Amino acid sequence: MELNSKKLERTSQIIYYSISIILCLFLILLSSKIIGDLDSTTKSPEPENFENKSALATLNKDSEKYTTDLENLYSKKETIDKTIAAAKEIFANEKQSFDNWLQTRKTLGSPDKDQEVIDRAKKLDDFYAVEQGWRTQLNTLQNQIDETEKKAQGVQESINKEKALAYKQYEKEQKQYELKVFLIRLVFVTPILILGIFFFVRYRQHKFWPLFFGFTLFSLYAFFFGLVPYLPSYGGYVRYSVGVILSAGIGYYAIKHIRQFIEQKQAELKVPTQERAKKVQAEVAEKALDKHFCPSCGKDFLLRKWDFPITKITEIDAYKYVTPFCRHCGLVLFKDCRNCGTKNFAHLPFCSSCGTKVSVDE
Ligand SMILES: [Zn+2]
Ligand SMILES: [Zn+2]
Repeated sequence: MELNSKKLERTSQIIYYSISIILCLFLILLSSKIIGDLDSTTKSPEPENFENKSALATLNKDSEKYTTDLENLYSKKETIDKTIAAAKEIFANEKQSFDNWLQTRKTLGSPDKDQEVIDRAKKLDDFYAVEQGWRTQLNTLQNQIDETEKKAQGVQESINKEKALAYKQYEKEQKQYELKVFLIRLVFVTPILILGIFFFVRYRQHKFWPLFFGFTLFSLYAFFFGLVPYLPSYGGYVRYSVGVILSAGIGYYAIKHIRQFIEQKQAELKVPTQERAKKVQAEVAEKALDKHFCPSCGKDFLLRKWDFPITKITEIDAYKYVTPFCRHCGLVLFKDCRNCGTKNFAHLPFCSSCGTKVSVDE
């Protein structure tokens, strides 16, 4: 079977990460089911639970009564308004007719008819009195309406007060409820997070690392989506403090590891080149040749046109651009095969020309 190692490496990486992600997804689905069940054990409070039911019932009854009263009063007022309008019209018509009659009488001049003038004027007065009577009734009614409206307003204010009081209590209870939900989640998520971090630190190089990595991904999801949104805020103090602790912790871990890595590399460079050459791993060697860097110090070994010494100009063209030893750390890079003399990259296992095993310790 023919294996293209580069392709194989890439494919296996894709498969490994897919395994991690799929595992992570199913863990998320499972955990959200569990968390949902946990949440349903505690009941969220409702504002209605804290209302004084009997007091509110009385107040509502009063409010309803006043509303009905007001409706009746308004309809009465409407009727009186109409009646007054009618009376006003009758009076106006009567007055017009009286004025006309008076005018005629003046022109014709019949003084014996004085009694008739008095009679008609009295009749007009009566009409006016009727209208005034209705107006008085209207005023009384308006006073009644004003009074009832005031009472209804008072009742509404009492209802609002009662509800505000209940809402205050509800808010208090709601805060406690949120804290409870958070604590339940904390108990559930903390071990997952610790295990996730542990897997990441300890099992990164493990044969089954994709499985551990999947769990680590899941633990991060559980922390950031299952716990963080439920952190009690206390005006942002808790959230920001958690942010500070997290960034400080992750920063500490990252800085420590980067420094360790650099120190390790520096220590490696102090080891004699022969020792270092023996330690170069096959995969590093392949990558180093491919990307033309020294497998030990990581610096580029390719010579630019202006880099190579004039004495080497007679070498075979392909090797014109490389040096036998690393210019930066002294590690052997290319050497001649002891069997056929062909120049080879010193860290690959076999000679490219004759297949003899290449050994870096010679
Ligand atoms: Zn080097
Ligand atoms: Zn050879």
